[in-house]
Amino acid sequence: MADVRPLPPGSTIGILGAGQLGRMLAVAASQLGFRCRIYSDVPGPASDVAISTTIGPYEDLEKISGFAHLTDVVTYEFENVPVSAAEAVARVRPVRPGIKALEIAQDRHKEKSFVSALGIPLARFASIETPAHFAAALAEVGAPSILKTRRLGYDGKGQARISSASEIGTAFDEIARAPATLEALVDFECEISVLLVRSLSGEIRCYDIPTNHHAGGILRTSTVPSQIPAVHLERARAIAGKLAEALDYVGVIGVEMFYLGDQPEPLLINEFAPRVHNSGHWTMDACAVGQFENHIRAVAGWPLGATDRHSNCVMTNLIGDDVLAWPALAAEAGTCLHLYGKNEARAGRKMGHVNRLSPA
Ligand code: AMP
Repeated sequence: MADVRPLPPGSTIGILGAGQLGRMLAVAASQLGFRCRIYSDVPGPASDVAISTTIGPYEDLEKISGFAHLTDVVTYEFENVPVSAAEAVARVRPVRPGIKALEIAQDRHKEKSFVSALGIPLARFASIETPAHFAAALAEVGAPSILKTRRLGYDGKGQARISSASEIGTAFDEIARAPATLEALVDFECEISVLLVRSLSGEIRCYDIPTNHHAGGILRTSTVPSQIPAVHLERARAIAGKLAEALDYVGVIGVEMFYLGDQPEPLLINEFAPRVHNSGHWTMDACAVGQFENHIRAVAGWPLGATDRHSNCVMTNLIGDDVLAWPALAAEAGTCLHLYGKNEARAGRKMGHVNRLSPA
């Protein structure tokens, strides 16, 4: 039986990972009177706002276990935390959102199979481990399609598009012949994501659903409200809720979907992220309680905060050199600027974001 008593302020929340999501989680936690400790294999911007950082490999289970003893509950800010590391923590302290979500989300094939078994629609897919699987996968999925590595793909990395069956060998080489999933190319109208938070007692709340625009595989903007009919938004929320229930999830989950417009099946799940999500950054300024605070509330066993949106918002990521415009952005009326404290503005690196608000 899970301990459902809320963690009192002054307690310590451990975060696996030191990136910008960990940083924004730690800031939100501090507003509720918590302290955060970070464990990461590489230094990152979360350490600037945490009381301690342990740097070590995720494979060092003794070190991870020592870290867990310094905390009251542990969460994670990226989905590629090795399951063995999360299990080592779980022997000492509760891990939330939980190990099941982590294990499924880090393997595209497991993820798609899990979603499909729930009866939730998604694009046709097939597994490819060796060239011997090409023919069967193509027969199942067809072309055009996308080959994606089963593991460690993000922001469009580890993907190769196939416009005709003859390109599959080259595409497999492009992803270094890693175990992969072949997935039908979806002719979508737009991409959306459901940001949902589930409490320790199983209460579910959803944020408004943004429309997401990607370029080069990286999220550029998230816009609320979207122009999608309410009935389809309701369906998207129901799908995400079903998934969260099935994962026995605690915290914020980001469920990415393709919206196909007025079709018999208007929504297909692309993937889910078992963590706070970039397409939810607008909630920090356009909602009473943003995704970071609500994630902390959930993992700490607190009641959830209101997810209502009080303003319209366009969230724009500052990628690479975009961040150099900070003086002009800081001077814009109605713009909330968030910078992640990263020193080097490398191409493709998420350096910050802006939330441009307007009256709802
Ligand atoms: P992913 O890493 O799976 O989120 O893919 C990154 C981006 O590639 C998505 O946000 C889409 O813009 C695009 N994409 C991925 N899978 C598909 C698909 N099956 N059909 C069309 N576009 C896709």
